[in-house]
Amino acid sequence: MLPFTGRLTLVFSPPGPELWHESFPIAKGERQSPVDIDTKVVKYDPALKPLSVSYEQATSRKILNNGHSFNVEFDDSQDKAVLRGGPLEGTYRLIQFHFHWGSSDAQGSEHTVDKKKYPAELHLVHWNTKYGEFGKAVQQADGLAVLGVFLKIGSAKPGLQKVVDMLDSIKIKGQSAEFTNFDPHGLLPESLDYWTYPGSLTTPPLLECVTWIVLKEPISVSSEQMLKFRNLNFSGDGEPEELMVDNWRPAQPLRNRQIKASFK
Ligand SMILES: [Zn+2]
Repeated sequence: MLPFTGRLTLVFSPPGPELWHESFPIAKGERQSPVDIDTKVVKYDPALKPLSVSYEQATSRKILNNGHSFNVEFDDSQDKAVLRGGPLEGTYRLIQFHFHWGSSDAQGSEHTVDKKKYPAELHLVHWNTKYGEFGKAVQQADGLAVLGVFLKIGSAKPGLQKVVDMLDSIKIKGQSAEFTNFDPHGLLPESLDYWTYPGSLTTPPLLECVTWIVLKEPISVSSEQMLKFRNLNFSGDGEPEELMVDNWRPAQPLRNRQIKASFK
């Protein structure tokens, strides 16, 4: 068992994804993420329930550049912002969201749809309250539920602008800022139709603890919004500037898994 005592930001492995297995053998495991969603093979599951996203009482606290993305963190000491239903049993509490993005619009998402890469992907991370805390939940096969949302380029997403406007203040690794009263519901598309499958964290320690719920409908963000993501830095104070781009892991083998769809 890994001594995983805190949030997703704890473990960062400087080498790229192709070398992660050297420190984290589970990188070549049976249920790694992300994966390609082959829509010809996906099976509609009429038993899947609608997703229930309850973010009305969400309480954001801060925004942090952790050197591989930036996290918007929430107060998860009570059932304030929760995900239920869909493929899930029980209640999963929102702890943070973050994004993965590319150096150009041609890439950036972690999941792909029929091999198509989107320019970016949002991950809203929730933990199963039956395990009491995030650090315990990541050690369980049904510990986390991550809601994935693809970003495409088009009109601006008004609900994203408050996040974009914070990025100058957290440009370098380790910088954080107070970020309260943010409504994560403003980051979702209209439709909650989804694909779901069992997978893993996509950054070390790559634990196989995630029920993935990936929304079919992307959100549109403007080029200007996307460009501001690419102005962040992987590097910290006093280090040579390294732009934070291409912080995505490529698709991993599906192996013995089935991706299910909530829609026909
Ligand atoms: Zn992620």
